[in-house]
Amino acid sequence: MKLLFTFLLTVVSLSVYSQKIPDLKIVDQLDFEVIKKADSTDTIIKLDTIVPIDIKAENWDHTVYNPFKNEVVMFPLQLEFKDSTYASPISKNKVVTSRYGWRRGRGHKGIDIDLITGDSLFSMFDGIVRMSRYSRGHGKTVVVRHYNGLETVYAHLSAYGVKENDSVFKGQYLGKGGVSGNARGSHLHLVVNYKGIAINPEYLFEFNDSNSIRSNEIWVTQQWTRTYVHNSKRQSKIIPLLTEEDAITSLKKQKKIYVVKRGDTLSRISKRNNITIAAICKTNAINKNSVIKPGQKLVIEK
Ligand SMILES: [Zn+2]
Repeated sequence: MKLLFTFLLTVVSLSVYSQKIPDLKIVDQLDFEVIKKADSTDTIIKLDTIVPIDIKAENWDHTVYNPFKNEVVMFPLQLEFKDSTYASPISKNKVVTSRYGWRRGRGHKGIDIDLITGDSLFSMFDGIVRMSRYSRGHGKTVVVRHYNGLETVYAHLSAYGVKENDSVFKGQYLGKGGVSGNARGSHLHLVVNYKGIAINPEYLFEFNDSNSIRSNEIWVTQQWTRTYVHNSKRQSKIIPLLTEEDAITSLKKQKKIYVVKRGDTLSRISKRNNITIAAICKTNAINKNSVIKPGQKLVIEK
């Protein structure tokens, strides 16, 4: 009886705990999980049951292109792929007409692949359609969120082939390519985002007939997200970073001075510079409650 009571108490406390966590899966020290259901009844299942990751749990917004604005993404970060190839987004040879990087005085955050209006487009990986609607500049756009945290964006479409919340498989038809939005001539503007931050896709994928993913596990540094260090007219030198050590040694320690602006808080400075509050405090010998004043100079080291 006492044992049963302890057991129930554990289940109850786990259920309370689970409400704060968006993911469906809560595992305790014992050999069972509690799955929170919509009708608030809990089901206890064995741990060997596979619970899929709920990629719709957070920032699942159909109305904005980037629903991750409030997230701080720390680099370097690791991406995982279960396969060694992706499905080609078009069914013919991929001709890259413009690459990720600086172009006509601004950042081009995707890669342009030539096509004829009406050509079919396909999802590069399994996933769920987060967005299938008009997005300023991108025109008719489909955004697919994948199970490794990436989102792929297919822009300038002439027709939609999927609806928001549709599950799609790798290679599934998504719609037809075109010239909608801000496009000079028909092409696919393909973007690979991680939590709203675009990554130069050539760092992850080879855009030739091999459709290969450069590695099942790959590290991404912030350098690979910056448009101004790449040129849209030529391919950058690609050295895939396969271990965290590689990623860290690839980073030259960068120091810059940040001048505090009116209204700044440590939290805002942290987000703007992609660095933790703790790191700012350590470098500048201040604590998280220190008052910072406009004009004050902070060393940002990363
Ligand atoms: Zn483009």
